[in-house]
Amino acid sequence: MLSVPSADLRTAIVGAGPCGLALARGLWLNSAQAAVFERNGGPSPRGFGFLLLGNGCDALRSLGLRPGESLGHRIDAVQILNLDGAVLAEYSLPEAVAVTRSQLVNALLEGAPKQLVRFGHQFDRFEWDGEMATAACFSNGLRHEADVFVAADGVRSQCRQALGATSRLRSGQVKEIVACVRLPTVDKELGGCFRKVLHPTEGLAVGLVPLGDGHVIWFVQFDSQQFPTPWMGEVGSFLDRHLAEFPEFVRDVVIVSDLSRAHLWHTVDEDLPNCWSHGNVVLAGDAAHPLLPFTSQGVNMALEDAVVLSRLLLESSGRDALIARFQEYERLRRPDVLRCLEAGRGMARDFMSPGQARFQIPVAA
Ligand SMILES: Cc1cc2nc3c(=O)[nH]c(=O)nc-3n(C[C@H](O)[C@H](O)[C@H](O)COP(=O)(O)OP(=O)(O)OC[C@H]3O[C@@H](n4cnc5c(N)ncnc54)[C@H](O)[C@@H]3O)c2cc1C
Repeated sequence: MLSVPSADLRTAIVGAGPCGLALARGLWLNSAQAAVFERNGGPSPRGFGFLLLGNGCDALRSLGLRPGESLGHRIDAVQILNLDGAVLAEYSLPEAVAVTRSQLVNALLEGAPKQLVRFGHQFDRFEWDGEMATAACFSNGLRHEADVFVAADGVRSQCRQALGATSRLRSGQVKEIVACVRLPTVDKELGGCFRKVLHPTEGLAVGLVPLGDGHVIWFVQFDSQQFPTPWMGEVGSFLDRHLAEFPEFVRDVVIVSDLSRAHLWHTVDEDLPNCWSHGNVVLAGDAAHPLLPFTSQGVNMALEDAVVLSRLLLESSGRDALIARFQEYERLRRPDVLRCLEAGRGMARDFMSPGQARFQIPVAA
């Protein structure tokens, strides 16, 4: 926990994803005022689950949580397999934890003040006084005044659009189908191992991540230029067709899944905005920097942003100091985020180049 004195700033956070909730936690644990506004009627299961890496685990520990102990399931190794099921490469993951989105969200909300998150509030626009926002307005008519506004509203951030900081979102060429299935035997057999099976010549891979509670998350990554993206109703036949050559243990997992609950993830490949803040409004998590899926860093970077931002806000002596604090936030975070963005692009290029060795570890440190 942070020991710096809490600022009197009232912080309004848009978005109750991992970033918004981690930031709110960093603030309320230190008695600072925070309110989170979420468009959904309750916590969203979107994204199913994540691999928390060392940096994400450190961020959570600084918020009083215990990943790998009371939160999530430890993953010690990642295996890359070929279509025959032979192991092509194996890497140890010194500190990784598989966690569902709802486990993470619930943990971040543990002990939170009752009125912290206000569900059913879709951000619409800011009201401004010169360069400073004075209120966030929501489509249900609510108008909320605050001193600081944090846009943690994800990859298609309306707050970012309201700042005019958005470029046109560029769709990533690699897409992902993700689902979660209850399969206690497979979960047990995988133990602490994340398995990824690669097609040798085409941009196609399947990953299986055990959750340690009888469930397994699986994902299919595909190059959408080689494999035209299916509509949701066609996902079953898409998988039947393209996974025919994959090992039986992969097809068995996919076949028993409820595909109506699978998620088709249209990834985004976007350059970082020139600036992550405007006056007293700052972008964080996916709203500032969507990442490609290969790095497994989306949620980890979002948690790190939240921790850095909460520390800087707590240290801030008032509204006037905010601009310098936000510059400091960006100075601290931009190099790591840029590294992950480029790592993700490199991994995507390798994935889409048939025949090249692509046995690298599917995470960015
Ligand atoms: C299918 C899928 C699988 C993924 N798998 C992984 C993975 O394995 N590992 C990984 O690291 N990352 C993964 N990601 C990416 C990861 O989900 C994000 O990087 C991470 O959730 C970012 O957190 P965030 O809080 O910044 O944004 P989000 O999690 O997107 O949260 C944003 C929140 O803002 C809310 N919101 C949006 N617009 C508004 C509005 N106008 N008003 C109010 N509220 C709003 C949303 O409802 C949401 O609750 C996955 C994403 C998807 C879609």
